[in-house]
Amino acid sequence: MTESRIPLAGVIGSPISHSKSPQLHRHWLSTYGLRGYYIPIDVAYEDLENVLRMMPKMGFVGANVTIPYKEKVLELADQITDRATLIGAANTLIFRKDGRVIADNTDGFGFLENIRQNVPDWDPTVGPAAVLGAGGAARAVVAALSEVGVSEIILSNRTRVRADRLKQDFGKRVRVVDWVQAGNILEDAALVVNTTSLGMVGKPELRVPLDGLQKGAVVTDLVYAPLKTQLLLRAEEAGCRVVDGLGMLLHQAVPGFERWFGIRPAVDAATRAAALR
Ligand code: NAP
Repeated sequence: MTESRIPLAGVIGSPISHSKSPQLHRHWLSTYGLRGYYIPIDVAYEDLENVLRMMPKMGFVGANVTIPYKEKVLELADQITDRATLIGAANTLIFRKDGRVIADNTDGFGFLENIRQNVPDWDPTVGPAAVLGAGGAARAVVAALSEVGVSEIILSNRTRVRADRLKQDFGKRVRVVDWVQAGNILEDAALVVNTTSLGMVGKPELRVPLDGLQKGAVVTDLVYAPLKTQLLLRAEEAGCRVVDGLGMLLHQAVPGFERWFGIRPAVDAATRAAALR
């Protein structure tokens, strides 16, 4: 690849038309007046490996990865960061000049930055965190919370075995509670996180009883469509500080953009507006 090539990046998934990443990265490219393009790439399962091998040769400097390939890319990458290994999934790929593919996961970073930006005095060590769900996103959240020193992470998931697996991987800081008792874990929680897909447009509502929400607790939902989920509305009524899931999506994109295009982009009101367009 010659130095004069215009850097390309994109998001790989299938389907991909729903992804907000293209409008987000294009907003940053135009805001900072940078040369570069960011495109959505719909890839069939059987083509994934070939596509990944070809992209660096075509001038791609990296890519985001979304459903259903976040786990699969770990099998194809040449190098995997420790946090992507721990989480078991990657959302950001870096293509080195020699064609080697590095897989990283920035979801946990995005999750923490979103809370820090919206609740600047958030202290992760102040009390337990209640996490609903134990899918891929929950693994990133639990990894991030462990890293910043949350003393206890109380986890509840419809499929208990998935939560137990998470406990096995993340150690004794994690306590698992049956899904039927999920409402109880909110009572002592300083932080409540919904990592299930419940509450999202087109999905059932989160039916967990929310009476236990504590005034002053920080409540965040990874679901960002709608922006204000029923969980966040109820939490607001209960006097909690609420953080919607869009900010996580924006912040998780920052490290990739900086690596590929050379500028650390700001996450501000204009960025949110661009992602919502
Ligand atoms: P996933 O691996 O498929 O996990 C889905 C989770 O939702 C599991 O815990 C699953 O429980 C639970 N769930 C689904 N339907 C349920 C139901 N009817 N009742 C109870 N629990 C149910 O998905 P993911 O990748 O973790 O993503 C989860 C959500 O986070 C999605 O809405 C995704 O869009 C969002 N997300 C947002 C961001 C962001 O940047 N804001 C980043 C990543 C993900 P079981 O294990 O029992 O199936």
